[in-house]
Amino acid sequence: MAASSAAPNVYDAEPIPEAARAEIERLLTSGDLFRYTAPDGAPVALLEAEFAALLGSRYALAVSSCSAALFLSLKALDLPRGARVLTPAFTFAAVPSAIVHADCTPVLVEVGENYRVDMADFAAKLPGAGAVMISHMRGHTSDMDAIMALCNAAGIPVVEDAAHSLGTEWHGRKIGTIGKIGCFSFQSYKMINAGEGGILVTDDPELAARAVIMSGAYEHNWKKHPGLQNSYMLWQNRLPLYNMRMQNLSAAVIRPQLPELARRVSQGRFNHDHVAALLNATPFFEVPPPLPGEARAPDSIQFNLTGFAGDAQALAFQAAAKARGVAVQIFGLSEDNARAFWNWQFLGPQPDLPQTRAMLMRACDVRLPTRLSPADLDFIARGLIDAAAEVQAKAA
Ligand SMILES: *Cc1c(COP(=O)(O)O)cnc(C)c1O
Repeated sequence: MAASSAAPNVYDAEPIPEAARAEIERLLTSGDLFRYTAPDGAPVALLEAEFAALLGSRYALAVSSCSAALFLSLKALDLPRGARVLTPAFTFAAVPSAIVHADCTPVLVEVGENYRVDMADFAAKLPGAGAVMISHMRGHTSDMDAIMALCNAAGIPVVEDAAHSLGTEWHGRKIGTIGKIGCFSFQSYKMINAGEGGILVTDDPELAARAVIMSGAYEHNWKKHPGLQNSYMLWQNRLPLYNMRMQNLSAAVIRPQLPELARRVSQGRFNHDHVAALLNATPFFEVPPPLPGEARAPDSIQFNLTGFAGDAQALAFQAAAKARGVAVQIFGLSEDNARAFWNWQFLGPQPDLPQTRAMLMRACDVRLPTRLSPADLDFIARGLIDAAAEVQAKAA
């Protein structure tokens, strides 16, 4: 390992492609920031067409965040108030929040040591559910064949939270296109960075029409979304307008990044697999392998600590890594972590989930932005390995 000598900054983003500048300048000059002002060809509408083509979906709707897309997905499904919506217990707090926002009841499903949905717990909790919201947390894909088979047999719709999974494939199918609706994020820590933003894709014209109207296509603005005329007539004036639209500046930042996606995905995969191989060669760490058929698009790495006795040693490892310039988050051991289900107190009392809890207490998270150099990657791996060796040597 030829590790670089300076700690890489893992929080800075990549520059936005130069091509965005002329378009932003044009928008600033005209002041045309609202997606529905222009009769056609608005940047948001062009983004929707391009994103739908990229995913191979019939419809795309750009909105203000992935959380908004998740909320609108549940609203578009027209679930009864209080409907149970299953979601993995390993996710970001925004996901159960979107379920609550849509007047539904989150049902948290156990997740295994490999960060994927525990299919036995899923099958046990599925009967009577109104919908399933599968969060592909940190881009890890659960067994979508098993999930879709159970949900299709029970007639329960699946929404994919693919916020952090743009570019991931499952047996050659694009993640986000397997369920009825797929939702993606353009928040800065995701594969495409617009600061904030989200988009949903679906092949279902009724769901698309309902989501378009509720996102804030008031009066006849739905006419600026292609291909749904008959459906819109059905819903005119019959749905609330939640106003979660995307504005043109966001689309101008996103569109020139779409052609970058393939490179970012292959770079992210290379970076992840390089660090994973180094960590897996030690007795301290275990990087769970992908499921067969899963091709990820990672911009971070997750691994489990092995052979650390108790929380104090795990925290000592975290501190030792930090002293070497490497930021590690142990999901369950960082205070008020938004990915630890016991901090979602807004849900009220929840049954304990011992398997997910145990995983969160030993699962580590390290950002690996796709722009890192091989020397940066080696610096990070070396810092983690040396920190673990130091802590375990002290304990021996
Ligand atoms: C980032 C993220 C979200 C939320 O996306 P926003 O665009 O910030 O609302 C939801 N789910 C997962 C898994 C995420 O990583």
